[in-house]
Amino acid sequence: MSSNTFKIAVMPGDGIGIEVMNACIEVLNAATKKVGGPGLDLQHVNGGAAYYRDHGTDLPDESFEAARNADAILFGAMGLPDVRKADGTEINPQLDLRFGLELYAGVRPVRVLPGAPTPLGDPRAREIDLVLIRENTEGLFADIRKPRTESTEQAEDRCLITRKGTERVVEYAFKLAASRPRTRTDARRVTCVDKANVLHSMAFFRSVFDDVKARHPDVEADYGYVDAMALNLVKRPWDYDVMVMENLLGDILSDLTAGIVGGLGMAPSGDIGDAHGLFQPSHGSAPDIAGKGLANPVAMFLSASMMLTWLGTRHGEDLCLEAGALIEKAVADAFVNAALKPSEFGGPHGTVDITKAVLNEI
Ligand code: NAD
Repeated sequence: MSSNTFKIAVMPGDGIGIEVMNACIEVLNAATKKVGGPGLDLQHVNGGAAYYRDHGTDLPDESFEAARNADAILFGAMGLPDVRKADGTEINPQLDLRFGLELYAGVRPVRVLPGAPTPLGDPRAREIDLVLIRENTEGLFADIRKPRTESTEQAEDRCLITRKGTERVVEYAFKLAASRPRTRTDARRVTCVDKANVLHSMAFFRSVFDDVKARHPDVEADYGYVDAMALNLVKRPWDYDVMVMENLLGDILSDLTAGIVGGLGMAPSGDIGDAHGLFQPSHGSAPDIAGKGLANPVAMFLSASMMLTWLGTRHGEDLCLEAGALIEKAVADAFVNAALKPSEFGGPHGTVDITKAVLNEI
């Protein structure tokens, strides 16, 4: 049995965030029971758009503190398009957590699971095994929490790129490229994705990338302009390994990379800093399918697996690593053995079927 019990702040949020989180807790409990640990102290934490509507705040102070004091945060999805602040923007507690806890690396692994369908016809799509890293704390999102001067004639958002902010996320990318297990053995490469041909801020991002690159001679480095990368990631995504980019570019390209492996329900993520880690599916609350049992919980399961792997590596806890690997394998096996075809692929399987199939493999 494990001697460690980890405190997990569980933030289901809104819409399908709640549905996939409920399914995920079943899977987490089954996996940790099977391998004999670790102990997980799952603490429900309030927040989100519905909470904002009812209480006037999307992330009460006690929720932020619970997240800060936890060993890891497991997050569903927050936001509802019809719940807006006076300035017209939506609530975004996930951004407050990213900024407040300095979760600077938005880590989004992209793989086609064996047995899982892919919308790309090319057989090489089976070889896709890349990680997109989004800088999470600055770029075009840097000033979103600052008060603005209202104008009916213009609006502006500053793109802030700092040496400190860029160095730490690029360093993370190079270390990950040097160490991550991968299904292909040839590539150990970090691609800097930017718009350095036009924007000063992006040219600066690239120059800091080059400084960090010089410290990692064992890892290859190359560059892609974001517009060309949108093309290449559809035409030949199997050619990429790790890529790192500014906040908004990562926001957009990570939906594209989710698309090439089947949809947002297949795309896990971790928002990782030096002291904290938050793990969540890449999707939102999906109000169009909420309450219909159609949500694909796979991204949530794989995010929980990432959380366990992160905890295991951080604390030297083998049972976390084993439970994380078990969930990942159970998801992959479920696609093969139960011939899963989630509804987002046009198939018949919803949240309950997929969860049952994964639990069967644990
Ligand atoms: P979304 O990710 O919720 O949905 C986009 C599309 O993908 C929808 O058609 C949806 O049905 C589908 N989809 C998403 N996840 C799915 C899953 N697991 N299974 C099957 N289909 C799935 O994005 P949106 O519609 O732009 O946003 C809805 C709300 O979520 C908004 O309020 C937005 O602000 C919020 N949001 C939150 C987060 C977050 O919490 N990190 C991220 C993105 C959007």
